Amino acid sequence: MKRITILGSTGSIGRSTLEVLRLHPEDFEVFALAARSSREALLEQCLRFAPRYAVLEDARAAGLLRAELQGQGSRTEVLAGAEAMLRVASDPEVHMVMAAIVGAAGLDSALAAARAGKRVLLANKESLVVAGELFMRAMRDGGGELLPIDSEHSAILQSLPEQRERWALDVREITLTASGGPFRRSDPATLEAMTPAQACAHPNWSMGRKISVDSATMMNKALEVIEAHYLFGMPASRIRVLIHPQSIVHSMVTYHDGSVVAQLGVPDMRTPIAYGLSWPRRMASGSSWLDLARIGRLEFEDPDAARFPGLGLAFAALGMGGGACAVLNAANEVAVQAFLDGALRFTDIHRVNAATLEALGASQARELGELLDLDARARGRAAAQARALGR
Ligand code: NAD
Ligand code: MG
Repeated sequence: MKRITILGSTGSIGRSTLEVLRLHPEDFEVFALAARSSREALLEQCLRFAPRYAVLEDARAAGLLRAELQGQGSRTEVLAGAEAMLRVASDPEVHMVMAAIVGAAGLDSALAAARAGKRVLLANKESLVVAGELFMRAMRDGGGELLPIDSEHSAILQSLPEQRERWALDVREITLTASGGPFRRSDPATLEAMTPAQACAHPNWSMGRKISVDSATMMNKALEVIEAHYLFGMPASRIRVLIHPQSIVHSMVTYHDGSVVAQLGVPDMRTPIAYGLSWPRRMASGSSWLDLARIGRLEFEDPDAARFPGLGLAFAALGMGGGACAVLNAANEVAVQAFLDGALRFTDIHRVNAATLEALGASQARELGELLDLDARARGRAAAQARALGR
């Protein structure tokens, strides 16, 4: 029986994780569920999965949840605040931690799980973007296992040789596929006026709002290039991005002998989640079966740099090194939130990201304190520019 903590349990990935766990009640036990403030969703999850702990970042919401759970006769103990997240991420009784908080807010708890030697199921790609070197070091020092949940990175892990020592020797390049999002075919002149609802209407995947906007700008793929660089130790020059609108080929690895190994499946996050949970074995995920005859065609094309300028920022940031990736991530979180709040135009997300990276990207921040300080400065600068550009 494996005990698991799910950070961000009320979000898209958190809910999919619980759906997979429900298929395997003999193998997994939910130790803790954690979210920011969504009390009602967490209440329902606690009643269904009876975790030992429920954590809400918001103390007031936690107080209400505690009263509600007691009223229902539940034995789940309710904790509040960021410290409690760290505690349930590193508790000695926990085997696995699903890190599915959105944004840099998920870094501390993912790091706590890494340092404590857990199997970390990493959906929170922002952790690796903000502090990739540090995070990978924490994983090594902690001695746990890192299983990427991002579908592309799960696909690459499934396509790489089993022995890690062979990764650098046998692989020519890795290719991340990208759907191209909802605006792949839109007239570029119309992008400026796109609304949050339009940006969040992803053709293939149903996801949280932040990552949905990131998919529309292709900043999601930019973050994933950085994620792949740290996860697989690949230099930026050996990471490619390919548009594949059907989202069936989840990513691929090209070997020196000309072979290309890819992982395919229907676009359903329960597959990479089940892989992370059951690795190195396989178990049912609840996903439907891929029927290639019904799909008929798989298409591929190079990304259009003019339509998706954000993608280039990932390669620029990796070239700058140090804290540039953290700067890019912070700017993007601020710009996306401003866009979702109706305060910034869609096309200005890129302006804010590019200008913030240019202003602060040269920082050589490395240690956690320096990176967090840089993150805060980048947020301040990005917010000021978003206000200036805002409508
Ligand atoms: P979401 O917005 O649906 O859910 C986010 C979750 O994080 C919620 O449970 C929320 O309560 C929690 N949360 C937010 N801020 C918090 C804080 N400060 N403290 C504690 N909890 C907090 O997001 P999502 O789509 O599930 O994405 C989660 C992560 O997974 C992101 O990093 C995203 O990039 C990554 N990811 C998502 C998908 C997907 O299909 N949704 C695919 C690949 C990667
Ligand atoms: Mg992805």
